[in-house]
Amino acid sequence: MNRMALDELKQQIPLLEYLQAHDWHQARPIGLGRLLGLCPLHADHKPSFLVDPNKNLFYCYGCRRGGDVIRFAELYHQVKFPQAVALLHQWRGLPPLLHEATGFYRMQLHRHGEAVAYLYQRGVRSPELIEHMRIGYAPGSCLRGWLTQLGYPLQALRQAGLVTDAGYDAYTHRIVFPLEGNLYGRSLSTTAPPHRFLPGAKGGLYLWEQVRQYPEVILVEGLFDYAVLWQAGFHNVACAMGTQLNAYQFRQLCDGMRTIYLTFDSDANGSGQRATQALAHRLREQRLKVCTVELPEGHDPNSFFVNGGDAGQFQALLEAARS
Ligand SMILES: [Zn+2]
Repeated sequence: MNRMALDELKQQIPLLEYLQAHDWHQARPIGLGRLLGLCPLHADHKPSFLVDPNKNLFYCYGCRRGGDVIRFAELYHQVKFPQAVALLHQWRGLPPLLHEATGFYRMQLHRHGEAVAYLYQRGVRSPELIEHMRIGYAPGSCLRGWLTQLGYPLQALRQAGLVTDAGYDAYTHRIVFPLEGNLYGRSLSTTAPPHRFLPGAKGGLYLWEQVRQYPEVILVEGLFDYAVLWQAGFHNVACAMGTQLNAYQFRQLCDGMRTIYLTFDSDANGSGQRATQALAHRLREQRLKVCTVELPEGHDPNSFFVNGGDAGQFQALLEAARS
């Protein structure tokens, strides 16, 4: 990333806003617009963390560390510079084009009975959940028209992978979930490949910023697993979108001391079980506590709930995994 792009990122994310979103509370203003509060970077008992919202800088008189929003993200999340930049991008939200596409897909969802029926069949029923995950639907043959009408050049749509080289909408008859800098599309049709991502990285763990605070985290492989668990009241769910974690996702999972409940599909050929064992080994090497959740044969969390499983029964599976 060049200097200009970094400056732009910093401009888009005011330090104070980022701090407040990470539960920082100012204790008092100390003149010249500057604020003082407890330091989020060390165990602080009297306010020693100084923030200058005009300069977008912080300094702590306790741990003697300071800098800009990127430096804060590095220290707070205990990651290196490139990961801190990636986290800030994630926090800022999708690039404008994907943001626009997401909004369009979300508008389409309730206009297409087949999409709502599919969600219902996969156990996705509460409006709060659809809102929380910003679930949309790509009917096909309409996104290109919408975005070009908004002034996005066709070349940009092709580059983002939203439109194919031949000029058609890349996602057709797919349920769409916005990720960090990508869109995941689940096909309704049984003949198309079920899972699709736009070109580029699938990003980090799904909505990790909302999950990392929990001392116990349930890790699942699919977004429909995430969905039914969240709907059942389990909000400490992380999703890797597959059983193979990329390096970024693995680092996220290890960014603090916590217990991980591995809850991958239990498939007949044993691939889910092998992935579970391999990951459990790597996580234990990082000194994390790992529990393996045993689902009934042939089930994943999604099918478990769709077939009548409830929160109490799932909780019992978690407890059995702990012992
Ligand atoms: Zn400090």
